[in-house]
Amino acid sequence: KQKLTVLYGSQTGQAEEIATQIHEDAVFNGYDVDLHCLKDAGKKFDISQITCAVFVCSTTGDGDPPENARKFLRTLSRKTLSKDHLSHLKYALLGLGDSNYSTFCGGPKKLERVLINLGAKQIHHSGFADDGTDMELVVEPWLEELWPALKKYFSNQDCEILNDKPEENSTKDENSDFAKLDKNVDCGQNKSVENLSKEIKNIEIMVTYKSKNDINTTTLQKSILLQESSLSLVELTLPPLFPLYLETFASNEVRPAIQHYQNDCPFPIASGSRTSGLIRKASVLTREDAVKRTIEICMEVENREQYMPGDAIAVCCKNPAQEVEWLINRLDLNEKADESLQLKVSVEAKKKSVPSFIPNIFTIREVFTSCLDIRAVVKKPLLRCLVEFTSDPGEKRQLEELCSRQGGDEYMKRIRENFISIIDIIAAFQSCKPTLEVLLQHLPRLQPRRYSVANYGSEFISFVFNVVHFPNEPSHLPDRKGICTGYLESLVEPMIKQKQVDPISISIFPTKSNDFALPGNLKTPIVMIGPGTGVSPFIGFLQQRREQIHSRTACNIGPAWLFFGCRHKERDFLFQSELESFIDGVLTKLCVAFSRDKVTENEPKYVQDSLTLHKNDIVKLLLEDKAVFFVCGDARNMAKDVRNCLINLIAIETNCDEDAAREKFSVVLAEKRYKEDIWT
Ligand code: FAD
Repeated sequence: KQKLTVLYGSQTGQAEEIATQIHEDAVFNGYDVDLHCLKDAGKKFDISQITCAVFVCSTTGDGDPPENARKFLRTLSRKTLSKDHLSHLKYALLGLGDSNYSTFCGGPKKLERVLINLGAKQIHHSGFADDGTDMELVVEPWLEELWPALKKYFSNQDCEILNDKPEENSTKDENSDFAKLDKNVDCGQNKSVENLSKEIKNIEIMVTYKSKNDINTTTLQKSILLQESSLSLVELTLPPLFPLYLETFASNEVRPAIQHYQNDCPFPIASGSRTSGLIRKASVLTREDAVKRTIEICMEVENREQYMPGDAIAVCCKNPAQEVEWLINRLDLNEKADESLQLKVSVEAKKKSVPSFIPNIFTIREVFTSCLDIRAVVKKPLLRCLVEFTSDPGEKRQLEELCSRQGGDEYMKRIRENFISIIDIIAAFQSCKPTLEVLLQHLPRLQPRRYSVANYGSEFISFVFNVVHFPNEPSHLPDRKGICTGYLESLVEPMIKQKQVDPISISIFPTKSNDFALPGNLKTPIVMIGPGTGVSPFIGFLQQRREQIHSRTACNIGPAWLFFGCRHKERDFLFQSELESFIDGVLTKLCVAFSRDKVTENEPKYVQDSLTLHKNDIVKLLLEDKAVFFVCGDARNMAKDVRNCLINLIAIETNCDEDAAREKFSVVLAEKRYKEDIWT
């Protein structure tokens, strides 16, 4: 058997999930394969003994490697190591990143530099997948091409080595190189997918509902009908069908409460173990007629002092009860939905394990509610598996098309772009009836969602969120709320309406921010940019700053600016009175923009316009006064616009061209004075 090692560095679990999938595929493809986290270097594996490795590594913060990969990187970055330290190693590398951040795929790119500098040789081109566009555009073809590349390598070990030349950058200063703005962000568009899309035309998705008011048939039961398929006569190449290796059996053991038994399954980025938060108060911060509803939750937690402004709490959410119920009914699992079950790996399956996020003893209802992401977009391996559980030949063929190599574009258009989940699939394909084990094996973990801590010093911690709402237009999908914000909203609604005053318990993980914290020295100028709920950590910053100012008399205090933006002053100006109260010595300048209230030309519409209005001061703060800039909130548009705006302002104020302005901005990044806490 050919020996292969899969190594991962993962922050949120995504890289780990892909690495696990590669491991499974490798077993299926007959390799002798091991799977390890990079943090276990020297303990569970020895890199000097590995000859062929597949790395999957994600990115965190602004281009940093995940925490569990850092020690590995540090060890291999030692100057004392010889240039041929890893010359025995052949590797393939898949990086995960997000082009919304200024340094795209910084973690995996750093890992690759280290490997190359120590003489490791690449046997498959490196893939850099972009969460900002669509991970799968890169991940899927990269995985498909991995196996032929490995086969070629193992069948002729002297075959094509892709990077048989020393790395040009090897002597470059890591930090400055790392911090350079990645101008040519590799958005990971895959050419074969693009070409395919040109060949396939006129494929449309149509989702219909049976009746408007019946929840079981309205919101969930819809059919996806192919109007026309250009693939109907095409011979399809299907991905491999992986055997099912999980088996359930009835348990006689006493089942502990879910909060307790999930302690064993940590959230990879948590800074502590799972704990309970007791919601004491909830209030709506926006007016009834605001476009988005914003809710503030105040919660009692153990070890209050470990939640600092800039940190976040991760809320363990639950899938909507009606969707869980529908799923149970549709799969005919009602009778055993509340029975205690256990899971084991079938005897034939070697080196497989039970998913770590499924408790030892569970019920189907609990697992569908709290452990599995039943809204996750269905991936091709699951579609391939569903083919085997579909009896109608027409539906079978459609599922085959969707997971086939030829149907890449169709999959993108109909499944990914419409966020089609397992629920949508089995609602549309009436003869498709997978077993519980199929879902347990294929559905990903229901991830906790993070929320920035929005206060400092008071007894309870608070956090603020917009209730995410997906209206049914234009994607034809039914009205849905975001999983976590919908869950939290329904939990606290009685509290908001004063019908219930009893505290409500939720399950949370504390998570530490990498570097998003007030500078230690009060003299350091700060600029905070946080429209919408992006203002939350800054409320905490300002409360903390007020306390620092009060406790240190006659101290030199640097300026603090805050840029806030919302739609309407009267409807969604979050924390208005509190923000205005900081102007009394804590906040030097509060700049607010209302995008829908703008009446005159000179009034700012967005935070970028406010920055432009103060361009002279802002560029001085950025380049001369060495201020620390903090940006929080929307990653898709706002964070990019703010970055581009600042580069533009540098060009204007220092009279240089855009390239030179970018260069100046990358120095600010290298000095770690531009910090982002952004999300999509
Ligand atoms: P989800 O159910 O996860 O849905 C959101 C995503 O699902 C969308 O972005 C979209 O990609 C996809 N999606 C699914 N179905 C559809 C569809 N039909 N149409 C369109 N898109 C669809 N948020 C805050 O409000 N306040 C905060 O303070 C805050 N702090 C954060 C701090 C950090 C460090 C991070 C990483 C995130 C933070 N967030 C914050 C974001 C928050 O964690 C959640 O992502 C957000 O609340 C949405 O969660 P949800 O479960 O309600 O939505």
